[in-house]
Amino acid sequence: RQALIGFIGLGNMGAHMARNLIKKGHELVVFDVNTQSLNELAKFGAKVAESPADLASKTQNIITMLPSHPHVNEVFLAKNGILAAVQKSTRCIDCSTIDIEACKRIAKLCSEKSIYFNDAPVSGGVTGAENATLTFMVGAQKEDFEVIKPFLECMGKNVVHAGDVGHGLAAKICNNMLLGISMIGVAETMNLGLSLGLDKHVLAGILNTSSGRCWSSEVYNPVPGVVEGVPPSKNYEGGFQSGLMAKDLSLAQNASVETQSATPMGSMAYNFYKQMSNQGFFKKDFGYAYEFLRTKKD
Ligand code: NAD
Repeated sequence: RQALIGFIGLGNMGAHMARNLIKKGHELVVFDVNTQSLNELAKFGAKVAESPADLASKTQNIITMLPSHPHVNEVFLAKNGILAAVQKSTRCIDCSTIDIEACKRIAKLCSEKSIYFNDAPVSGGVTGAENATLTFMVGAQKEDFEVIKPFLECMGKNVVHAGDVGHGLAAKICNNMLLGISMIGVAETMNLGLSLGLDKHVLAGILNTSSGRCWSSEVYNPVPGVVEGVPPSKNYEGGFQSGLMAKDLSLAQNASVETQSATPMGSMAYNFYKQMSNQGFFKKDFGYAYEFLRTKKD
């Protein structure tokens, strides 16, 4: 069933996801604070809204894909936010990676207005967004999951019911903590190997057929030129920003404090990416961990 869908947040991920919904025959009304991103989606056939409130007045299906919870709070709660003009029974699906408690707060405010709010963060990176092969981790009641699943299937390959509201984020935050840790591990390993005189392709090939193999070594190796087409081979542009990885690791730290769980590697990884972003590399893809650690001989 084709629908009119509102989409807010047309960044590295959202722009591709919105395009895939249009390709699958849905009509889109979009909003972003960046007018260039809006114009590009308009060229692709989307209608442009003037604000989140304007968008909410036009549709009862809204997807958001924003950097973090302050942005999601603003889009929902500001004077011209979604809740200012939302229609009863609207379904809001937030695909951003945000704090679990912030998600639950917005979900509660939505339910007080008889609006559905579900978390559906994603994994799969910009390539997954472009090729509609994302994994969605959904926090929803079972019956709500069944209703929103067809929309998510237009943008992804795996749509998984993780549990109730907040559980999609819990799964996503755990995954990204492991990803952040493993990327640093691969970056320091590749740097050590190259410093020992190994060829980057030979070393990556050996790791990827040995017990050190992981997604960060095989699919998204951080050394430029090892895997063609990924952000590390494109000057670390256009992928998953180091600043957003630091944000995800900070969410894992919030969750570890909340649940009294020890996450020694997670906290080290958080500090590593925070240092990288504070030193001017916020926007660089998180594979920049390799360049940050690279032994520079001059
Ligand atoms: P991005 O920074 O490229 O895009 C965010 C978009 O939101 C931008 O276009 C920005 O202009 C817009 N925006 C910000 N504030 C806004 C507001 N108040 N109103 C309207 N629009 C606003 O980020 P991204 O890489 O697309 O990531 C989005 C989310 O997905 C993040 O939570 C991130 O952690 C998560 N994520 C990213 C990746 C990745 O590989 N990039 C992978 C999985 C999950």
